[in-house]
Amino acid sequence: MAYEDKRPAQSAPQRPFIIPVFLPQAGCPHRCAFCNQPTISGNIRPNEDPARLSRQVDHFLKFRRPKRGTTQLAFFGGNFLGMAPKRVSRHLDWAVAFVRQGAVDSLRFSTRPDTIAPETLALIREYPVGTIELGVQSMNDQVLSRSRRGHTAMDTIQAVSQLKMEGYEIGLQIMTGLPGDSPAGAIATTNAVAALAPAFVRIYPTLVLAGSPLAADHAAGRYLPPKLAESIDLVARMWLMFTAAGIRVVRMGLQDSPCLADRRHLLAGPYHPAFGEQVLSRVFRSMAEVGLEHLRPSAASRLALRVNPRRLSVMTGPRRGNLVRLREAYHLDRLRIMADPTLPLNQLEVDNL
Ligand code: SF4
Repeated sequence: MAYEDKRPAQSAPQRPFIIPVFLPQAGCPHRCAFCNQPTISGNIRPNEDPARLSRQVDHFLKFRRPKRGTTQLAFFGGNFLGMAPKRVSRHLDWAVAFVRQGAVDSLRFSTRPDTIAPETLALIREYPVGTIELGVQSMNDQVLSRSRRGHTAMDTIQAVSQLKMEGYEIGLQIMTGLPGDSPAGAIATTNAVAALAPAFVRIYPTLVLAGSPLAADHAAGRYLPPKLAESIDLVARMWLMFTAAGIRVVRMGLQDSPCLADRRHLLAGPYHPAFGEQVLSRVFRSMAEVGLEHLRPSAASRLALRVNPRRLSVMTGPRRGNLVRLREAYHLDRLRIMADPTLPLNQLEVDNL
C-alpha cells in the first residue's frame, strides 16, 4: 500500500448542490492584482434584479438530482460582506424566500477575511447562512501586499476564529504563483491554512487575465507566471498535505469557461481546462511510485495497481501517461490498473497479479 486516506469512500461528505449567483466584484474595496471577475465568471453581466435572479434559481433547481444531499444558494464573485449593509440584507432577504419554500437548505457566500467583524456577523446572524468562504490567497504578508490584497494573514486567522465561534462551515481559497510567491511559500501557506482547520479549501493557480493589474506587470516583464507542469506538481503536494490533514480540496484550478479558453482574455499562466484532473493524476502517480519503490519489482514482476473505480482515469493518466511512465521507470513488463470498489477514494494498493 502506497498511500492511505483513512476515510472510507462512502464517508466523504456529499457535496451540496450549489446554485451560484454571481455578483462580479460587488463590495470590493479595490481590484486585486490578479482579478478580473467578469472573465473568471464567464463574462456574466452583473444582474441584481430579483425577478431575473429568481428565474435563474428556478432554472438551476431543475438540474438537481432527486437523491442529491443539501442544496445551497451561493453568492460568488465578489466580496459579499464588503457591500453596504442594506445591499447585503436585500440579497439575503431575497435568498431566504427559497429556504422558506423548502427549495434550498441554506445560503453561502464568499468574502474577504477583513470583512469578518462583529457588525457584519450580527448583520447575517438571523439568516440561514451555512457556509462562508474566505479569499485567503496567501498567508505571507509580502505576497498579499504585492498582490494588492489590502489585508494580512492575521486578518485571516482572526476571521476564521470568529467564524468558528459562530459555528459556520468554513472554506478557504488560496492561490499559487502570486507575485513574490514561490513553491516553498505556497507550501508554507498550505501548512498555515491547514493549521486553521477549515472544512474545505479551493486552490487556484494565478492566471494573467486581460484587464487585470497583473496583465500590465506581465507585459512589462515584471511578472512571469510559473509553468503548467510546475503548478501541477506544486498543487499535487498541497492536495496531499490537505488530504492528510482531513481537509477536503473541493476545487483545483478555475472553472473552465469560453472566456478562459480565449487568448484575448487569458494572456498567460498555468491554465488547463481539466487542471484538477491533471493534479490528481500526478498525485496517484506519486502514490504508485512510493508503492513500487517499496516493492522493488523486477522486470518479471506482474503487478496491479488497485484503486477505487472513481480514480481509474486519474491513475491511468492522460493518454495512459502514468501507466507508460511507471512501466518504463520500473522496467515492468506487466502492470495493470484495476478497479476495486472496496477501496477508499484516495487509497491505492500495489499487488502481485
Ligand atoms: S479577488 Fe476578490 S476581493 Fe479582489 S477584486 Fe477580485 S473579487 Fe474583489
